Amino acid sequence: MQYVLCTNCNYPIKADYAGQSIRCPYCGTRQTVQEVNMRSENGVGIAQGVVIPSWLFWLSAGLAAGILFGPTILASSREGALRLARIAEEKLKGS
Ligand SMILES: [Zn+2]
Repeated sequence: MQYVLCTNCNYPIKADYAGQSIRCPYCGTRQTVQEVNMRSENGVGIAQGVVIPSWLFWLSAGLAAGILFGPTILASSREGALRLARIAEEKLKGS
């Protein structure tokens, strides 16, 4: 499989052969594959050459979200509510 870069937005489009008529999936520009524009799959600057397994992505994203937001959510839901209630009580007693 080879790629050509879209003449309009530089999005890499899969191409089978030179002279093929293709449509850019990103911007919709129709164009003919030029042999000069053909890039190998391992070519530099082809974003689609980098493959991250989706399960790994969501696992790490979930872990990051848990580390970042877990304590915040817990505090805001339980301890935070109790603390606010306590502060409110003290203020009421004070005044
Ligand atoms: Zn395009």
